[in-house]
Amino acid sequence: MPVDTHCPYCALQCGLRLSGGVVGPRDFPTNRGGLCQKGWTAAALLDSPGRLTRPLVRAGGELRPASWDEALGVVAARIGDVQARHGRDAVGVFGGGGLTNEKAYLLGKFARVALGTSTIDYNGRFCMSSAAAAGTRAFGLDRGLPFPVSDLDDAGAVLLAGANPAETMPPFTQHLSGAELVVVDPRRTPTAEAATLHLAPVPGTDLALALGILHAVVADGHLDKEYVAERTTGFDEAWRVAAAWWPERAERVTGVAAADQRRAAALLAEAGGAYVLTARGTEQHASGTDTVSAWINLALALGLPGRAGSGFGCLTGQGNGQGGREHGQKADQLPGYRRIDDPAARAHVAGVWGVDPASLPGPGPSAVELLDSLGAATRALLVFGSNPVVSAPRSAHVARRLAALDLLVVADVVYSETARLADVVLPVTQWAEEDGTLTNLEGRILLRRKALDPPPGVRTDLGVLAGLAGLLGQPAGRFPSDAATVFDELRAASAGGPADYSGVTYGRLAAGEALHWPVRHTAHAGTPRLFLDSFAHPDGLAKFVAVDHRGPDEPPDAEFPLRVTTGRVLAHYQSGAQTRLVAELVAAVPEAFVEVHPDTAARAGLADGDLARVDSRRGSVVARVRAVGSLPLDVLFLPFHFPGAGRANLVTNPALDPVSRMPEFKVCAGRLSTVEAE
Ligand code: SF4
Repeated sequence: MPVDTHCPYCALQCGLRLSGGVVGPRDFPTNRGGLCQKGWTAAALLDSPGRLTRPLVRAGGELRPASWDEALGVVAARIGDVQARHGRDAVGVFGGGGLTNEKAYLLGKFARVALGTSTIDYNGRFCMSSAAAAGTRAFGLDRGLPFPVSDLDDAGAVLLAGANPAETMPPFTQHLSGAELVVVDPRRTPTAEAATLHLAPVPGTDLALALGILHAVVADGHLDKEYVAERTTGFDEAWRVAAAWWPERAERVTGVAAADQRRAAALLAEAGGAYVLTARGTEQHASGTDTVSAWINLALALGLPGRAGSGFGCLTGQGNGQGGREHGQKADQLPGYRRIDDPAARAHVAGVWGVDPASLPGPGPSAVELLDSLGAATRALLVFGSNPVVSAPRSAHVARRLAALDLLVVADVVYSETARLADVVLPVTQWAEEDGTLTNLEGRILLRRKALDPPPGVRTDLGVLAGLAGLLGQPAGRFPSDAATVFDELRAASAGGPADYSGVTYGRLAAGEALHWPVRHTAHAGTPRLFLDSFAHPDGLAKFVAVDHRGPDEPPDAEFPLRVTTGRVLAHYQSGAQTRLVAELVAAVPEAFVEVHPDTAARAGLADGDLARVDSRRGSVVARVRAVGSLPLDVLFLPFHFPGAGRANLVTNPALDPVSRMPEFKVCAGRLSTVEAE
C-alpha cells in the first residue's frame, strides 16, 4: 500500500511516496515532484545493515547486547545515582533538529519534569540560532520563512546570503527560476554559478558587505521612506553606522567591488518584488546575529518584509529545524515558542503538565557550553537524534568531554560516532516507521505517517521517554508514548503562544490542509503569511538594529595564514551518520576533501588528489585535495559530513555569538601542508 509521506532529511520536507520499500516523487508545494539524490535513496536507510536493532550496555569496556528492561533499568538507576550525588542539573539532555515535534516536546517535558534539570539544549543551536535571534529582535517573532515557498515564484530578485540551495536543497531552486539572483558566498558554488550577480566576500566579512549595500540603497535613492516611516523604528541609529560604510570602504574589507554592491542594491530595489534570504553561511559566525540583523536592515530599508510579493526570511536546514526550536528542547524555551523565564508561560505549561510552576527549572546552558561542562558540572548526558562528536565545533575536545562522563546514553537509529562512546545505546524508530509531525521551513506543519513496522527490538523515542519516566517515578499517563496523544498535549501546551498549534489536528493534516502556524483554533485556516498588517512587537513595528562589522574571532596570521570555512555537499546530510550508510551517496562523495586554489595547493607541495593536512589552533584534519580555480587564494573549504581524521570540526572555532550562542563554524585561521609535514 503506497504511503504519501515526506523526506527524512532537510527542512524543505519534499513530498514523496513510499511504496513497497521504494521512494517515488510526489507533488507537494515545496518540491513539485522534485527530489534530490538524498530523497531518492532514502529507503536505503530502512533496511541498512548499519541500523541499530538491539539495546547495548557497556560492560568491561565493551558494548554488548542487552534487553530493554536491563538497558532502561541501568539508565534510570545511574541517573538516580548521579542526581543524588551531584544534584538534578548534573544530568543533561541533548536533542536534535531532526526529531519530530512530538519528540522535541516530550524531550523538553522529560527534562523539566521527570529529570527536573535545566540542562537541556539541542543541535539546532549550531544551525538556526542566529537567524532566530535576529528575526525575533527585528520582527518580534521568528519563523524561518514568514511566507509560503511558492511566493518566491513571482519574485523579481532574490538575494541569497550564505545559501547554496543548488546543493543543499535542489528542488527549492525551481522557485527561484524567474528571479534575478544575487548570491553572497566566498565560494563559486553551483548556486553562485547560476546567479545574475555573485558577490564573494572574504569569509567573516558579510556584515560589512550588508552595510555597504545598505549604504548604496540610501545613497542611490532606493530607500523606501514611506515604509520606513510607517512600519519601522530605529532607522536613524542603524543608518548612523551604515553611513560610514560607503561601498568603497566595504570593498576594502570584503573584497567585493563597490560597483557590484551598488548593482545589488539596484537589482533588489528595481525588481518589482524582491526577497532577502539568509542561511548558515552568513549565520554561523561569532557575530552571526548581528550579521543577520544587517541583512534584515537592508530588507527593511527596501520595504520588503511584511508585504505581499516581497520579504525577508531564512532557509532552515534540518528537517524539523523549525518545529524543533518551538516546543521546548531549547535551553531557554517552553512549548509554543514561549520563553522559560516568562511567569505566564511557566504557569500555562505547568498547568498542562499538572505540576507546580515553581518546580520547573529555569534556562540552562547553551549547546557548546553544555558540551563544555561534561565531566564537570554535567555528569550524565542523554543524547537523542544528534551526533555531536562529528557536528560540534572543536570536536576532539567534545569527544574527550563525553568520555569523562559518568553516564552517556544515546538514542539513535544508527551506530553514530557518538553512540560508539556511549554507556547505553537505545535503538529507535525512524521516519517511515512511526507517526509524527514536522514543521517545514515555511512554518507549515506536516504529518508523517507510519508506513511500515520497525525491526523487532526497536522502540520509538516516545516509548523510550515514557518508559524511563515511569522508572524515574513519574505517575502513569503523564508521559504518553502514542504520537497522536503527545501531539494533542503539545497543542494544549502551545495554545496562546507565538507558535500556537492548538488548531492543528492529525485529521486536518491527513486531509491535506496547508496549516502554517499560528493556528489558533480548529476552524482557523492558519497563517501562511505573517506580518502583513503588523509585526509582532507590541507597537506593531519592525525594528532596525544598529550593528557594526567586527570581523572574525580568529583572523589569519603568520602562523595560520589561511581562512578555513565549512559547508555541505549534495550527497550528504549533516554529520553524515545516515547518508554515509547509503551506498549511492557514498559512491558520489566517499571521503573528506579540502577545496583549495591550485596555486595555494602547489605552494604547500600538493596537487589535486593528494592527501593534505589542514591545521588550526585546535587540531588537524586529513582530507584529499580538490583543486578549485575559482576559490580565493587564501580560502580552504571543508565539508563537515565525515568522521575520523576527516572531521572538519576538529579545526573549527567554538567562539560563540553573544546573543544566539552560535559557534563560529564558518571561519577560522588555518594552514595547509602535506600529511608528512610537522
Ligand atoms: Fe528534498 Fe531536502 Fe530531502 Fe533533498 S534532502 S529530497 S531537498 S527534503
